[in-house]
Amino acid sequence: MGESAAETKIANATLCRRRGVSAAGQLDSGERGMGRATAMMGPAHSLSGAAAWLGVGAAAAAAGHPMPWPVLLAGALICAGAALAPDLDHKAATISRAFGPVSRWLCEIVDKLSYAVYKATRKPGDPRRSGGHRTLTHTWLWAVLIGSGTAVLAITGGRWAVLAILFVHMVLAIEGLLWRATRGSSSDVLVWLLAATSAWILAGILDQPGSGADWLFTEPGQEYLWLGLPIVLGALVHDIGDALTVSGCPILWPIPVGRKRWYPVGPPKAMRFRAGSWVELRVLMPVFMLLGGVGCAAALNVI
Ligand SMILES: [Zn+2]
Repeated sequence: MGESAAETKIANATLCRRRGVSAAGQLDSGERGMGRATAMMGPAHSLSGAAAWLGVGAAAAAAGHPMPWPVLLAGALICAGAALAPDLDHKAATISRAFGPVSRWLCEIVDKLSYAVYKATRKPGDPRRSGGHRTLTHTWLWAVLIGSGTAVLAITGGRWAVLAILFVHMVLAIEGLLWRATRGSSSDVLVWLLAATSAWILAGILDQPGSGADWLFTEPGQEYLWLGLPIVLGALVHDIGDALTVSGCPILWPIPVGRKRWYPVGPPKAMRFRAGSWVELRVLMPVFMLLGGVGCAAALNVI
């Protein structure tokens, strides 16, 4: 079964938003590698991130550390946003366009850094490549570093740091989850306003006693330490999503596998699917929604 024209249009539209180019123009522009054949689309990444955190919520409830609902909600949104973050190494990705010139500049730095690290650490079995996409930011080590960095920022930076972390991830969650609604450059400011408002409201709720600022880490001074968890999880879920696509994902770096240090982890070729394909839109995304719903119900002890 192939993609229908409508599905192709939807998948391409996400990549093309803000470009003012047609879907066909985008495909011809040489950025084919980002969305069409080698990477999962933003919405599927975000949904899988949210579902993963709701699953953690269910597991935490079963293990005797039930999440207060604000932690479940904020965590799911942060994880949905964090699941877009590894693609900061590609200029066509949602995250690289989500914050205007700031994210475009950051994207360039991350791409250069990733490429430099790739060149410096590749083994004889790793192929030559021309850019940094899907290398450094798509590893378990990056996920852990970015998550612990955020956690440290959250516990040392006070209220404004928490607000900033929430804001950045709310922008990404909105762009990822409400992908249809946020298409087009004129909505940038609206997305930022909506994200700032939700960050402010969420922080206000979490700050109330018993609402979850001290979930899991209960010692004084450890408030919001848990914010690092959905960020690590989101990045890992992104990597697994990419691993399922045609070229795999070097999740294990810097642990060498045979003659490769950037071994592309993934299932056997026949089991991989084309990004933006009907499998993603018709199978994966509904499955993520269903799993997220079940996880959410279990986390809140409804089932
Ligand atoms: Zn990716």
